[in-house]
Amino acid sequence: MSAQLFVVATPIGHLDDMTLRSIEILKSVAVIAAEDTRQSAQLLKYYNIATPLTACHDHNESNKINILLERLKNGEDIALISDAGTPLISDPGFKLVRAAQEQGIRVIPIPGACAAIAALSTVGLPSDRFSFEGFLASRSSQRINQLQKLKHETRSMIFYEAPHRILESVRDMAEVFGQDRPVGFAREITKTFETIKKMTLADLVAFIEQDHHQQKGEIVVVVGGATEQQDPGQEQLDQLLLRLLQDLSVKAAAQLAADLTGIKKKVAYQRALELTGKD
Ligand code: SAM
Repeated sequence: MSAQLFVVATPIGHLDDMTLRSIEILKSVAVIAAEDTRQSAQLLKYYNIATPLTACHDHNESNKINILLERLKNGEDIALISDAGTPLISDPGFKLVRAAQEQGIRVIPIPGACAAIAALSTVGLPSDRFSFEGFLASRSSQRINQLQKLKHETRSMIFYEAPHRILESVRDMAEVFGQDRPVGFAREITKTFETIKKMTLADLVAFIEQDHHQQKGEIVVVVGGATEQQDPGQEQLDQLLLRLLQDLSVKAAAQLAADLTGIKKKVAYQRALELTGKD
């Protein structure tokens, strides 16, 4: 008699952003697995939900899985929630969902708020294709490395960032992506000081520097993708490869060309082989 695991989104600020279905589900399940039970208790109180809470966070998720799976197998429905927004999206829950799925337990989404989607749908940058990057590394060298790998990404890129790191992260973005790259800034979505803006990265650095309030609260940054023209044309790639091949092996030249231009190493390698007649 296997029960169901509901993955339930909760508000990202405004408590009224619960769906009718999410309230019903939270009332009906045997237990709610929550990232922080004290935080979620406030939401449950607001909606008069009396269902017991149990902690399931990054540090105990592995140990908790067996207990929760056992309860599911005994026929008890369980809801998984995080502190805010959609569980698993830069939040715990992945291990539990995977384990439940592997045991043949039905996992049911109860969709609702997600800061990434709320930001993307309002900042005014292309939303037809996008990549979700979550949090960048806290160390600047690692962060710059991560950003460099994204330099030629043509889709809009969504980042979550902590308020105390927003200025240095946006400075790094301007450095790597270019001062003129368009960027969306979505702060305190659905809350009193909600701020949604679109500008260039250079202007965003200045905006945050000049107004310290912008370094507070919760923030999503959406960076516009690189324009297709920034990718090198065939002629430019050939010129670069021919020059590199004068001093380097095919493999090393292809690697360097890929690093410098952002094209796939396999593509650069194939072209290098063709140019050297080794194809
Ligand atoms: N699971 C959540 C979701 O669905 O969006 C995200 C949780 S993650 C631990 C927290 C980060 O999400 C924050 O640091 C911030 O980048 C973003 N975030 C959450 N709520 C937000 C809000 N109201 N306004 C802007 N960003 C928010």
